[in-house]
Amino acid sequence: MRAAVVNSFSEPLALEDRPVPEPRSGQIRVRIETSGICHTDIHAARGDWPVKPVLPLVPGHEGVGIVDAVADGVTRVAVGQRVAIPWLGGADGTCEYCVKGLETYCLNPTFTGYLIDGGYREYSIADADFVGIVPADVDPLDAAPLTCAGVTTYKAVKAARVGPSDVVGVIGIGGLGHLGLQYAGIAGGFTVAIDVDDAKLDLAKRLGADHVINAERQDVVEEMHKLGGADAIVSTAATPGPLSAASASLRPAGRLVLVGLPAEDVFPLPIFETVLRGISVIGSLVGTREDLAEVFELHAAGRTRVELETRRLDQVNECFEDVLAGRVPARLVFDLRGQFRDTTSSPGHPAGLLRRLSGGSRFTGAYRGDHRADTRHDRPTRRSRPRLGVVPVGLGADASWRTEGRSPGCAQRAAQERRPQERRSERWNGAAGTGS
Ligand code: ZN
Repeated sequence: MRAAVVNSFSEPLALEDRPVPEPRSGQIRVRIETSGICHTDIHAARGDWPVKPVLPLVPGHEGVGIVDAVADGVTRVAVGQRVAIPWLGGADGTCEYCVKGLETYCLNPTFTGYLIDGGYREYSIADADFVGIVPADVDPLDAAPLTCAGVTTYKAVKAARVGPSDVVGVIGIGGLGHLGLQYAGIAGGFTVAIDVDDAKLDLAKRLGADHVINAERQDVVEEMHKLGGADAIVSTAATPGPLSAASASLRPAGRLVLVGLPAEDVFPLPIFETVLRGISVIGSLVGTREDLAEVFELHAAGRTRVELETRRLDQVNECFEDVLAGRVPARLVFDLRGQFRDTTSSPGHPAGLLRRLSGGSRFTGAYRGDHRADTRHDRPTRRSRPRLGVVPVGLGADASWRTEGRSPGCAQRAAQERRPQERRSERWNGAAGTGS
């Protein structure tokens, strides 16, 4: 099988032929269909962070594909099922934080594509208990970005405790931000997109942003104050530059949620203002398995849209350059279907069919909108969008309450796809979600 491999932090990735890996007890093997590129993969490949991965490494923590083999002890998933392999590839389940429902802060975690090999390859190995189950209504291309960019910003919006009528700013309308903006809207907030690129702000408007601010031409604090200030701001920024303005844009009791991990690690925060206005600064790291299940449910119900472009795995090094230069609209996703073997992509799926007919890989904007327009994915406008059903996400303990506003089929599938023990853990995660 083919794999994109980091052999040195100072050299480009190499496309290598490797033996197909065998799953061990509790593991599954997944035939990867799609695999998203996250900025974290670039940090991993370049050894940018204090804890460096062990080389050689196959990056990737947005791998989506079909279960191809299961080892002994696996009961949660079966061969033929579509799953997503997220950043949190495993947690011990016994440490204080796992027991509290905060598994992303486990003391003995496994990070996919960093501590173990990830999804930039044809076949990947995963812990059966930690993969996300991808609903049939979610296109595998969309599922990839949802697996990290989606769940990370979804969790950040929970951490921001967004309430109906809150003004919510999202800094950086890229892979993470374009989804975060939609989750903030779903949670009931009036959304404000902040970026320096007009094309990204246009994307934000198409995705339903109530206001946009171009931080290069406009004064963010002034513009935010015209709106009465922000109740919450989610930052996906790749530099700490916008964070001081963000904290100054908050109303009393406002929340600044940090998600992006800039290489420059600090920003100045005025203590006096922070104390007098009761500002909270909150860090938020990816999301739990339950968060990912909710992200997929929302997408299956047509409530979110993913902006992406597809690439081939052998374009990995160009892709990294494009991401670093900000030349991509939101997310790049490797489409491995049919690249190395003779398989059809999503047979019968309108997206797969249209893609083959059009012969192109560009998958954004109007085209995707058109595709959605003649299916049940047609996105409700803000005015008509049902406001309840997913709103106080942090309270989502009761399964029947959480299924409001969805088609019965969808709710039923979601219920079937979860094991009883996961339904129990919902309560933990739900309780923790409001306090994190
Ligand atoms: Zn990521």
